[in-house]
Amino acid sequence: MLFKELNIIDPILEALTKEGYTEPTPIQEQAIPVILDKRDLIGLAQTGTGKTAAFAVPILQILDAGPKNVQGKRALKALILTPTRELAIQIGESFTAYGRNLGLRHTVIFGGVSQVSQTDSLKAGVDILIATPGRLLDLMNQKYINLRHIKMFVLDEADRMLDMGFSHDVKKVVAHLPERRQTILFSATMPREIAKLAGDILENPVRVAVTPTLSTVDAIEQTVYFVGKKDKKQLLIHLLKNRAVVSALVFTRTKHGADKVTRNLIRAGVQAEAIHGNKSQTARQRALTKFKNRETRVLVATDIAARGIDIEELSHVINYDLPNVPETYVHRIGRTGRAGLAGVALSFCDQEEKAYLKDIQKLIAKPIPVIEDHPYPLSEDSPMPSKDIPPQAAVRQTGKIGYFRRSGKKKCGK
Ligand code: AMP
Repeated sequence: MLFKELNIIDPILEALTKEGYTEPTPIQEQAIPVILDKRDLIGLAQTGTGKTAAFAVPILQILDAGPKNVQGKRALKALILTPTRELAIQIGESFTAYGRNLGLRHTVIFGGVSQVSQTDSLKAGVDILIATPGRLLDLMNQKYINLRHIKMFVLDEADRMLDMGFSHDVKKVVAHLPERRQTILFSATMPREIAKLAGDILENPVRVAVTPTLSTVDAIEQTVYFVGKKDKKQLLIHLLKNRAVVSALVFTRTKHGADKVTRNLIRAGVQAEAIHGNKSQTARQRALTKFKNRETRVLVATDIAARGIDIEELSHVINYDLPNVPETYVHRIGRTGRAGLAGVALSFCDQEEKAYLKDIQKLIAKPIPVIEDHPYPLSEDSPMPSKDIPPQAAVRQTGKIGYFRRSGKKKCGK
C-alpha cells in the first residue's frame, strides 16, 4: 500500500517522501482514512508504530481544506494533548515535517520553562496546538488560549496521561472543548479507566489496533549474556568498547541504578548521561538532545523516563537489568529497530533474573540466543531454566559481534 492510495494531498505526500517514508505503517493505513472521514477514533498503538503521522497527516489535510480564520483572525482548530514535554516536542517536529508545504501554523507548549516565547507565538495566531495538560490549563486561565473553535482533539498516550496523574486536568480541558468536534484517542493499553474515559469523550468511535510490539521483536537482533550481578558494570564497559555500538539506550530498574551505571561509564571514559524522574525537565531534555545529536553515546534510563522517547537510528538497547514484567522488555527493545530499521538488543541476566528471562521468552514465543563467549560469565549452574521454554531455547550463539571472539575465556557454565 502506498500513501497515495490513502487519498493524501500532494503537498503532504511530497513532505512524506522527503522524510523518506514510502509506505504507511499499519496504524497509519488504518487510522488515516477514518480520520479523513471525520470519524472519532480509538487507536491502540504505542510510540514507535508511526502513530504521530497517523493523526498529524489527516489533521493537516483537513485543516488545510477548511477556513483558516474566524472573524478575520487565525483561530485554534486542533489540540493535541500529550503527557510529557519530550513527546510534545517530538509531535511538534512531526507537524513541522509533514506540514512543511502547507500554510498552517502550530506551536508547542509545556511547563518547566518560561512561558514568554509560547505566549508570543499564541498571540501571533496558530491553527494547531500541541500541549501538556498543566501549561495548557495555566495559559487558558491567563486567557492566552481559547478552545472555542477546536474542531479536532487528540488525546495522545491516554494511559500514560492517567498514570502520571493527569486525569483531572484532562477532564478540565475536555470541559472547555466544543461538543461538536472530532476526537482521537491513542493509548498503548486499554485499562478500564481508559475505556471509561473513551466512552465519555468519543462519539461512536472506530477502533483500530496494532500489535507493534511483538512484530517489532522479530526485526530486532536479540541476545542475552549470563553475568554475575557484580560483573555487569565491567561487561557493559567491555561491550561499549565495540564501536559498532554507536548509540545505546541502557535500561536500569531504578533511578539510583541509572545514576550508578552512568558514573561508572563516565569513569571509564564513555560519554554517558542518565535520564529519570528525579531530574528536572530541563536536564532531561538537555540529555536527550545531546544523545540525539550524538554528543552523548550512552543514555541510561529507567522505564518511566524512557517511555515515549523517540530516537531515530538508535543502534542498541541494552537491558542492564531485566524487567520483571515481560511486556516491558518488548517496550524497551522496541526503542531500537524503529520503522523497519535493524536494531540490536542485548540483555544482561544474573542468577536472580533467570525467572524474568523465562517469562520474556514465553511472551515473545522464542528463545533469545545466548552469548557465551564473553569475559564475565556467570559461573554457577545452568544458565537456562529448563522447564516451560521452547526446546530451541537451548540455542547458543558465540561471537555475535566479532569483537568478542577471543580465546582463553571461561564458557558460561551449563
Ligand atoms: P511514532 O510512533 O509516531 O513515534 O513514530 C516512530 C518513528 O517512525 C518516527 O521516527 C517516525 O519518523 C517514523 N515513521 C513514521 N511513519 C513512518 C513511515 N510510514 N515510514 C517510515 N518511517 C515512519
